[in-house]
Amino acid sequence: MTQALDVAGIQVSPDHYIAGKRIISPETFELFSPIDQRSLGRISEGLDEHVDAALAAADDAFPAWSCLSATERKVYLDRFAAEIGKRADEFCQLESNDAGVLLSRMRHGVVPRSMLNITYFAEHALKLQDRPIDTDQAHHIVRHDPAGIAAIITPWNAPLMLGTWKLGPALAAGNTVIIKPPEWAPLTMSLLADCADAAGLPSGVLNIVHGHGTITGARLVSDPRLARISFTGSVPTARKIAQVAGANLVPVSLELGGKSPFIVLEDADIDSAAATGALMYRNAGQVCLAGTRFLVHEQVAERFTAAMREYVERLRIGDPRDEATEIGPIIHPRQVERVSDFVDRAVENGAKVLWGGKPHSFGAQYYCPTMLAAVEQDDEIVQNEVFGPVLTLQTFANDEEAVAMANGTDYGLGGVCYGATGHATEIAKQVRTGFIWVNSFGIRDLAAPFGGIKRSGIGREGGDWSFEFFSDVKDVVVPKKPFKASFSQR
Ligand code: NAD
Repeated sequence: MTQALDVAGIQVSPDHYIAGKRIISPETFELFSPIDQRSLGRISEGLDEHVDAALAAADDAFPAWSCLSATERKVYLDRFAAEIGKRADEFCQLESNDAGVLLSRMRHGVVPRSMLNITYFAEHALKLQDRPIDTDQAHHIVRHDPAGIAAIITPWNAPLMLGTWKLGPALAAGNTVIIKPPEWAPLTMSLLADCADAAGLPSGVLNIVHGHGTITGARLVSDPRLARISFTGSVPTARKIAQVAGANLVPVSLELGGKSPFIVLEDADIDSAAATGALMYRNAGQVCLAGTRFLVHEQVAERFTAAMREYVERLRIGDPRDEATEIGPIIHPRQVERVSDFVDRAVENGAKVLWGGKPHSFGAQYYCPTMLAAVEQDDEIVQNEVFGPVLTLQTFANDEEAVAMANGTDYGLGGVCYGATGHATEIAKQVRTGFIWVNSFGIRDLAAPFGGIKRSGIGREGGDWSFEFFSDVKDVVVPKKPFKASFSQR
């Protein structure tokens, strides 16, 4: 085992966690903070031998873990969540330092939600035991059997939230798990292994193998011993994973990017819509479910733009560790370049910068909240996900036009619709996405389905949907009358 890294006074292992032990790799990669580009240390790279060891450990642990009842697993999982709670401050500091997430958001949103991701699904699993279906002929016992080894792969914009959102149901359903954390922000997943250890989770039930997607991730998802692959990330990576998983016939859940509409109807509460609009810059715009395409009725466009500008001008951009900060850095220099290039190309193509449009003076990885107008539906900036603080503004003349524009991309993750409640709800129903918020944004409930359509993904997570994915659903059929074998029987 190598020495733990010291990140803002927090000790965290840079190594894999396999079969309950820290495993060092002969190869490592350097991790930098997006806040000030300082090195946070070197992380173990997952080589073939580490992925193999994790698969063997998960395989060994599966029989005992899968045989426990949901009630018995809940005891472990509740303890696991409590361990996360005990180390809340450490999680906050680590993710703020390696992913640039606001410390205040970690404290008040992400850490409590991550604990709930474990306890909610542990509780929910109790309800899934042996669901009966009675018919005239037979008594059906519908079981959710554990599937096997689940691979979990997540991106860097919300590592702890997304990791636990998948891990909770995967473990509660009786699977063993291998997580490949995002290489640009792996620290909170590493600390999570310490929590599993402290909670006494049997060795091999949770394994963490660090590394790059193209090396460690690619090796992991290509293994036919996997029973499930749960992936959140970009469309190009999803295509590669789907290809190899398809060859092995391993079921995959894909939560991908978005280019969601933010519709403002002529009867909207403009101030309220504008205040919510400014929230789309949260996490420096690195949020899959943000409404990034503003579609505003032409009669209210000027008023709306002026109101939103006021909210945006008040946003406090700075160090995410400062409690007053509202917008932090972009994760990586490569992502900054991507954002900047998107804006430059759009402007060259005729887009008008309403605000922002340039790097922010606070630091090398900061970009101004940006709004681009004079864009056309077919433009790259309207069609492709930027994943940064860059929004576009288009106007429409009537509801039909609004719906056509909202549905006019290959993505279909989420959406926001502001207007008189009945009117906005009717429009929301016509928008082709996995979810849409009426006169609100970001209301999430673990019982509700979450996921996208079209290029935004395959499958749903949340409540029963998570268990449908992480379980093998089986029907045990017991006839009500003595069964007589007959070839003429239907
Ligand atoms: P990415 O696809 O580059 O990487 C995601 C993860 O996949 C990382 O852990 C990476 O190491 C791994 N990976 C990369 N190549 C791989 C391969 N060949 N095989 C296996 N694993 C591989 O995405 P990103 O840039 O890290 O994240 C941003 C994307 O994630 C955006 O498109 C965003 O919209 C999306 N996202 C979606 C949701 C959602 O719930 N729908 C949530 C957050 C982020």
